[in-house]
Amino acid sequence: MSTTEPSPALRTSAFTCVRCGLTVSALGPDGRGRGHCPSCLSSLHTADRVGGGPSDCLGRMVPVSISVPRGGAWVLIHRCTRCAALAEAPVAADDNHLVLMRIAVRPLADPPFPLDLFGEV
Ligand SMILES: [Zn+2]
Ligand SMILES: [Zn+2]
Repeated sequence: MSTTEPSPALRTSAFTCVRCGLTVSALGPDGRGRGHCPSCLSSLHTADRVGGGPSDCLGRMVPVSISVPRGGAWVLIHRCTRCAALAEAPVAADDNHLVLMRIAVRPLADPPFPLDLFGEV
C-alpha cells in the first residue's frame, strides 16, 4: 500500500472555486501549481501544513493577509473557515490585483491606534 499517492485535488488539472464557481487551472501562468482562485483568491483546505500530507478538512480557505519575505514576492496567507488553520501560497501573476490590494491595505484602513500620532513626531 502506497502512502505517497497524491490527493485527488492535485491529480486533476483544474478545479472549481468553492466561492465564486470559476473553473481554475491547477497550473498558473508561470508554470507553477496553484491552489487558490485567481479571481477571489479563495482556496480549499486540502493540504496538511503541519503533517505535510493531504488534509481531510476540505474547509474553505479565505485570504486574510499578505506576507512579504525579505527580497521575495508577495505571499498570500489563507485561513481555513472550518478549522482556522493558516496556510501560505505564492501570489500568481494573474491573481486579482484589486483583491490583493484590498487585503494589503486593510490594516491601514482600520489601525488599532490613532494615525494622527505620526503628524506630531
Ligand atoms: Zn473564486
Ligand atoms: Zn481546515
